[in-house]
Amino acid sequence: MTLICNEHVIQSVADALQYISYYHPLDFVKAVNEAYEKEESLAAKDALAQILINSRLCAEGKRPICQDTGIVVVFLKVGMNVQWEGDMTVADMVNEGVRRAYLLPDNVLRASILDDPAGSRKNTKDNTPAVIHIDLVPGNTIEVRLAAKGGGSENKAKLVMLNPSDNIAEWVEQTLPTMGAGWCPPGMLGIGIGGTAEKAVLLAKEALMAPIDIHELRQRGPATKLEELRLEIMDRANALGIGAQGLGGLTTVLDVKILDYPTHAASLPVALIPNCAATRHAHFTLDGSGVAELTPPNLDAWPEITWDIGPRARKVNLDAVTPEEIASWQPGETLLLSGKMLTGRDAAHKRLLHMLDSGEGLPAGVDFKNKFIYYVGPVDPVRDEVIGPAGPTTATRMDKYTEPLLEKTGIIGMIGKAERGKLGIDAIKKHGAVYLMAVGGAAYLVSKAIRKARIVAFEDLGMEAIHEFEVEEMPVTVAVDVNGTSVHETGPAIWKKRIAEEHALEVN
Ligand code: SF4
Repeated sequence: MTLICNEHVIQSVADALQYISYYHPLDFVKAVNEAYEKEESLAAKDALAQILINSRLCAEGKRPICQDTGIVVVFLKVGMNVQWEGDMTVADMVNEGVRRAYLLPDNVLRASILDDPAGSRKNTKDNTPAVIHIDLVPGNTIEVRLAAKGGGSENKAKLVMLNPSDNIAEWVEQTLPTMGAGWCPPGMLGIGIGGTAEKAVLLAKEALMAPIDIHELRQRGPATKLEELRLEIMDRANALGIGAQGLGGLTTVLDVKILDYPTHAASLPVALIPNCAATRHAHFTLDGSGVAELTPPNLDAWPEITWDIGPRARKVNLDAVTPEEIASWQPGETLLLSGKMLTGRDAAHKRLLHMLDSGEGLPAGVDFKNKFIYYVGPVDPVRDEVIGPAGPTTATRMDKYTEPLLEKTGIIGMIGKAERGKLGIDAIKKHGAVYLMAVGGAAYLVSKAIRKARIVAFEDLGMEAIHEFEVEEMPVTVAVDVNGTSVHETGPAIWKKRIAEEHALEVN
């Protein structure tokens, strides 16, 4: 019989969540670096460089890899011979650990969890509750696997009830392009096969807790049908040419993990959940000896990347930029932005449009004329920071607001992550505006370009308030130009063709 104190569970969960907020798993760093070294698409290589530089900066500075510090998902295997010291439930212990981690003053994390999801959507302020899965198993220890899952990648989860005769790899190949780049590739695909609908989804999520080892699998050769499937899906996925951040390139997926379970003779449930550039998970075991200790990684494990975009980039003064100037920007061109921009995401957009529709007008004292709006919900600053990690959020969520916003506010450009949908692109083209893309998952690096930050409207919305940022040489890519040309359409198409041609040459 092992005695486990409530406090040991709480503090171990808190420590592990802090740890994964700034340390990428080393297998992930290695896999991204391999992708970086072999990447031939310049745009994708730039994105991978930023992800790696950001990763190292976060490990050094102990600040979050991404502004979205995730929803906490915990898998516990509780030994049946464990006894508890204290009277908290397992869920209460885990949630207290989450609270402690997310409110830690020295590395405050963003609270992203909302109560009443179909109603008032009110922030719980401490990122609780976690999503908790408990298994009772033989033994006298508690095994904990936890992750902080980003909303952008979680939003791309898919579940399908295939016919038993359908081809799973084909379904993944067809589904991946429909997911866009809001899941911040490159990352892993977690796939759950079998059971029932809810079991397949749970398996897909659990599969993502394993380390990246597809190269080892390829070297030794598949020994099972599932291992064959992993390799087949990986090859089909990367042949799509989606690339890092959807810009077109050689690596979209770093590994494919699959878990399966027996299923009904009439069924073939398949779930697919991607993990993003902010892959964050940790594992530890409690055996009654105290709080679990996670050893900090050696910083030498991070590659030294030198990335000087300066000579290839166009410098833009945001305080003087005009509609005529933005019309000359080319799709795929890199810009270094300096000057003032506004921020705003879902809730701010909704409120702005409500104010305009109700005749209330725009918030007093905020000038939108010829301004850019950056889709971001930053982490609060700590120590001497101007702002915490402040990477872009998924732009397609703002598509439905884009037409009235461009029409009624005087804004001429937007900055976000991943592609725009048809609604957004049509509005951009109609108004001669532009959409710029920053790298999702490089949030701490982006925050280094922000020299000043202040809230100018909607303070009650917390991280969703409208801020004014003053930036210096913030790197972005022109993702949709004034003519509506989108690099997220042209880039993957070019690279898909090129990969197919190279493959044909190899085969012949
Ligand atoms: S890397 Fe992208 S998907 Fe992942 S948490 Fe950050 S913004 Fe969200």
